Amino acid sequence: MHNKTLVELAKGLESGEFSSEEVTQHYLDRIERSADSLNCYITVTPELAIQQAQAADQRRANGEAGRLTGVPIAHKDIFCTKNIKTSCGSKMLDNFVSPYDASVVVNCKQSQLVTLGKTNMDEFAMGSSNETSYYGSVKNPWNVERVPGGSSGGSAAAVAARLAPAATGTDTGGSIRQPAALCGITGLKPTYGRVSRYGMIAFASSLDQAGPMTRTAEDAALLLNVMSGFDEKDSTSVDSPVPDYTASLHHSIKGLKIGLPKEYFDGGLNQGVASVIDDAIKHYQSMGAELVEISLPNTKTAVSTYYVVAPAECSSNLSRFDGVRFGHRCESPKDLEDFYKRSRGEGFGPEVKRRILIGAYVLSAGYYDAYYLKSQKLRRLISDDFKQAFQDVDVIMGPTSPTTAFKFGERMEDPVSMYLSDAYTIATNLAGLPGISIPAGFVDGLPVGLQIIGNYFKEAQLLNVSHQYQRETDWHRKAPVMDIL
Ligand code: GLN
Repeated sequence: MHNKTLVELAKGLESGEFSSEEVTQHYLDRIERSADSLNCYITVTPELAIQQAQAADQRRANGEAGRLTGVPIAHKDIFCTKNIKTSCGSKMLDNFVSPYDASVVVNCKQSQLVTLGKTNMDEFAMGSSNETSYYGSVKNPWNVERVPGGSSGGSAAAVAARLAPAATGTDTGGSIRQPAALCGITGLKPTYGRVSRYGMIAFASSLDQAGPMTRTAEDAALLLNVMSGFDEKDSTSVDSPVPDYTASLHHSIKGLKIGLPKEYFDGGLNQGVASVIDDAIKHYQSMGAELVEISLPNTKTAVSTYYVVAPAECSSNLSRFDGVRFGHRCESPKDLEDFYKRSRGEGFGPEVKRRILIGAYVLSAGYYDAYYLKSQKLRRLISDDFKQAFQDVDVIMGPTSPTTAFKFGERMEDPVSMYLSDAYTIATNLAGLPGISIPAGFVDGLPVGLQIIGNYFKEAQLLNVSHQYQRETDWHRKAPVMDIL
């Protein structure tokens, strides 16, 4: 049962082969049996899940079922979930039970999806390895000595290990695509504004975007249908109609123009990963696509630009966590200053503090022009690179991550090496473009992700291009072997 995709689960539910309660119980049993040895979940919600599953079965019996009624999923713990702990991977919110649902969660509930629980993540989504989580790091199901990627590492590992058939994630600089690549699943970051950010705890508001994490592109299309749409509660939500993302999956990709940015195949790219990506691109060529060498000349500035913009926005967003209204509050403060200092000092981990410091620094009066303003100019140049490229090509392809999953501890002492994990994903966020990572092969038993970047609101095309590859390959069907299960 747990090897079934969303599409297969939906079919089985529709034909009455099994009920939502059975599927949900099956997943809850797996989570329990594994004692979540991978540490994918921060919170599991079995009672709620069974209750939702029974309600879904009832809806189906009444003839009111939708396409995904009764299918279980997991939510990254960055999404507010009513009456359920919402920690964002931080001690700061360890005691926070949200009084409302994020719009993504509301959308999932309206489509009668079942919530299995909340997945582990880097603290406030800052990280590329899940090692910054207050709840301990998540293990990569392909090799438990290695990181699952981050920040949506819990979602990625849960889907890969069949501890959830699908999950939600968020991506500010690569946090859906990079863990998807490192865990061998499919992860889509939509165009900025496509999915509502309401109730999604903000890291860097101009970059954050939620998206589906699934085994296949077809499943991602189904889940994106549910997640997307205009939301008046999010002022950056885009008011344009949501197409049915499953409708164009079968279009032929003959004549598709694929741009290969030479900057994405530079010296920083691991050789094994390069050769897997090369094979995937050749496969596309054999399917009738045309390859075009392109250049995105400002690529090398993307990571440094991001590490000014993202910390600047985070220092502002995280100022709300002051111990007054919610979250961690220190014991017996001496005075107001002590109260703020210790509440924040105790509540946040080292990476979050580093970002707040950098952000406050680059926004300060003396340095604003030199750093923040300059980063905004670079951001424009980075977007212009893509604009230029999309005049000649339909999609852009390259590796999602420069390496496969790395070992725990390997990059924690050197933040810059950690930051470079997102060298190929970050520019997409700065430009607001959609990108997907799909499984494309293995190096030494560890999955490799192929990244496909599309023009604004071309999610349907990205899913189509991904699905056509998945029809002819079976990398996305491979599952890690886990003794415990
Ligand atoms: N790894 C990047 C960071 O640490 C991106 C995180 C994300 O996309 N949320 O900021």
